Amino acid sequence: MKRNLLLLIVLVFTLFSCGVNPVTGRKQLNFVSESEIFPQSFAAYNKVLNTEKVSKNKAQVKQVKRVGKKIQKAVEKFFVELGYPHMLDNYKWEYSVIESEQLNAWCMPGGKVAFYTGILPVCKNDEGVAVVMAHEIAHAIASHGAERMSQTQVQSAIGAVGSIVMGVYGTKSEYQELVLQAYGVGSQVGMLAYSREHESEADEMGIIFMSLAGYNPKVAPQFWKRMQAKSNGGQTPEFLSTHPHPKTRIDDLNKMMPYAIDAYKTGNAKKYLKYRKK
Ligand SMILES: [Zn+2]
Repeated sequence: MKRNLLLLIVLVFTLFSCGVNPVTGRKQLNFVSESEIFPQSFAAYNKVLNTEKVSKNKAQVKQVKRVGKKIQKAVEKFFVELGYPHMLDNYKWEYSVIESEQLNAWCMPGGKVAFYTGILPVCKNDEGVAVVMAHEIAHAIASHGAERMSQTQVQSAIGAVGSIVMGVYGTKSEYQELVLQAYGVGSQVGMLAYSREHESEADEMGIIFMSLAGYNPKVAPQFWKRMQAKSNGGQTPEFLSTHPHPKTRIDDLNKMMPYAIDAYKTGNAKKYLKYRKK
């Protein structure tokens, strides 16, 4: 009986919170609100920077910040075009470089970005950094991690009779740990991985964002080819987990290419937004 009641609560929650995400245009399960997740995300980000070795390589730090700010501006512009000019009002953008051989990068809720030094040679230049930056920011903006957290909450609620949906993660540090896992931060194997659907969405939006920022989108398929060659056999938390087959990924990116090139040339996403409405 108690269990049924709990399932009912979950169902009601689902009905009310499974709204259409304006960014992805897809119905998403989302229990996690910005006001709930952002403070935890910011605290978790500071914790990561305090524990990891932050790079002092000025050229690398400058590069990541330079590209990050351009992508940020492009994303802000995109939301104005989409009709949601206040979507990013609570973001506190920040870009860091962490000393680590991992081929990894991530963006946490509210615009907290980190690149690991290991991925920079694969990026090669600003355009390569832009491919990764735009992909990671797309994950954050599409609330992919929040969606995964919500799914985890539902699973926990169903599994643990007696716990209330929102009360599953009692302490702040447990919650922060969940944010870190949900957004691909960390080095542990077995952490939550983005689904293929999330990856495709991040690729699609990423290539549009980088183009709007003035980076040539033709670089994107080339970067993923280099990444594939590099990461064979290795473990890369964000990038190797459940990423689409490289050929599928490159085919998909090439499918987006006409819209990306249009965004690159015109500086607006009109053609892409028209395609999305279809
Ligand atoms: Zn990804």
